[in-house]
Amino acid sequence: MSYDERKMSLTMQRTDQSTFDRLHTSVQQSDVSGKTLLIPDMAPISSRLLAASFRAFGVNAIVMETYKGLGLGRKHTSGKECLPCQITLGDILLHLQSEKERLGSGFAPEQYAYFMPEADGPCRFGMYNKLQRLVLDQFPEFQPVPIVYLSTMNNYETAGILPPDKARLFRRLSYVTLVAGDVLDRIAWRVRPYELRPGLTDTFMHEAVAKVSDVIETVGADLRFDAICRALGQIAATAATFLDPHKPRRPIVGIIGEIYLRSHPASNQNIIHQLERYGAEVVDASLGEWINYITSESLKKIDRQWLETRRRKDWAGCRTLVRKWIGLQIEAYYQKWRQWQVYRSVLRHLDIQPDHNISHIKKHLDRNRLFHEAIGTEAVLSIGGALEYAHHGFDGVVNVFPFTCMPSTMASAVLKPLLNDMKIPYLDAPYDGAIQPNRDVALRTFMYQAQQHRDARITGRNGGTPP
Ligand code: SF4
Repeated sequence: MSYDERKMSLTMQRTDQSTFDRLHTSVQQSDVSGKTLLIPDMAPISSRLLAASFRAFGVNAIVMETYKGLGLGRKHTSGKECLPCQITLGDILLHLQSEKERLGSGFAPEQYAYFMPEADGPCRFGMYNKLQRLVLDQFPEFQPVPIVYLSTMNNYETAGILPPDKARLFRRLSYVTLVAGDVLDRIAWRVRPYELRPGLTDTFMHEAVAKVSDVIETVGADLRFDAICRALGQIAATAATFLDPHKPRRPIVGIIGEIYLRSHPASNQNIIHQLERYGAEVVDASLGEWINYITSESLKKIDRQWLETRRRKDWAGCRTLVRKWIGLQIEAYYQKWRQWQVYRSVLRHLDIQPDHNISHIKKHLDRNRLFHEAIGTEAVLSIGGALEYAHHGFDGVVNVFPFTCMPSTMASAVLKPLLNDMKIPYLDAPYDGAIQPNRDVALRTFMYQAQQHRDARITGRNGGTPP
């Protein structure tokens, strides 16, 4: 079937009730045990550790190759979608097509499940998996591949995708593995700009990720976090020996923005390496920060529901909300404690950048004067996170996002004048998949300003303190 024919058939399908049914029946929270779970590659380290934590619970999870299918993703979208949607669509189409070619008549689509989480709220991310379902359904051979999701709506509850005896343990393991991914990234960002020999850190980190994956796969199902922390501590201790004591500390640049773009080196044209090449030490906002934010938002949601339920004098509803609230508070406390444990195992050996605290981030919104928390989205984290970087004496902030991204554009509008007043260099770095000839100049100019900021900070001319 040609592309035009598929497009026409899609339009006809749109009027068909069964198409809408498939958005529920084949975009679902179903048990992935026994399937090959296809995970999109977002943050390279964390995606691989997440796959390892699924494997620890017996799910054959693999991370798909990324970005090579962008052409395919574009071919099956209109151009108005967010770039991460096109990239991930291309990844799944290319992967399934390659599997079909590789296996021939042995290709069994029902053996696969495609993992694409979603979010509630005003952003288009909630619709990625629906759109991708419509596109996959244009290929009869890919129709049996279910799209499996976790949602911010219920704080990434995993009960739907694994059997009950495993789901709760998996939720805890996956949180710790995401934080482990964050600290491994932070080890690389702290050491690489000062390494004794070029390439030393990247080669070592490659082996380190494989080592931590093995540990997670072997002992993760028993929640042996001590073993994971021990492995991270050993990695940090070795990485610390790569630091050249003769290299002076560089200007420190913080990255904020849309989670996929800022974490996905292929789509952000490896901005962290680029900034390091022009003289920066870089810290990207973490994935743990996003999970913690979702938990805090879930608690807020319950607060709002509580007021309404009490107004209606629905006492049974109130009791349910109290139970939910207690469960979420325990989860929030648990996350905080585990995150502290993981960071501590590394901080004993190497001074990586600690993660942002969500309550500190929200405090920077100045009682919603700068941005109202109720709007939600990543803009809260981007605005508060940038101001937290500023508070800790960073020398510049880069906002990395897909071209036309709604929350990042709002964050840019708020941050530009604010950081300008604070005399902190700021750069918007939107990406649409094309190479922009002036990007290099913009990054070099930004780094020149960041270096000046650092010089002024060290001599005390801007009243700042070193981070
Ligand atoms: S955060 Fe940006 S890229 Fe992601 S769905 Fe929203 S608008 Fe699209």
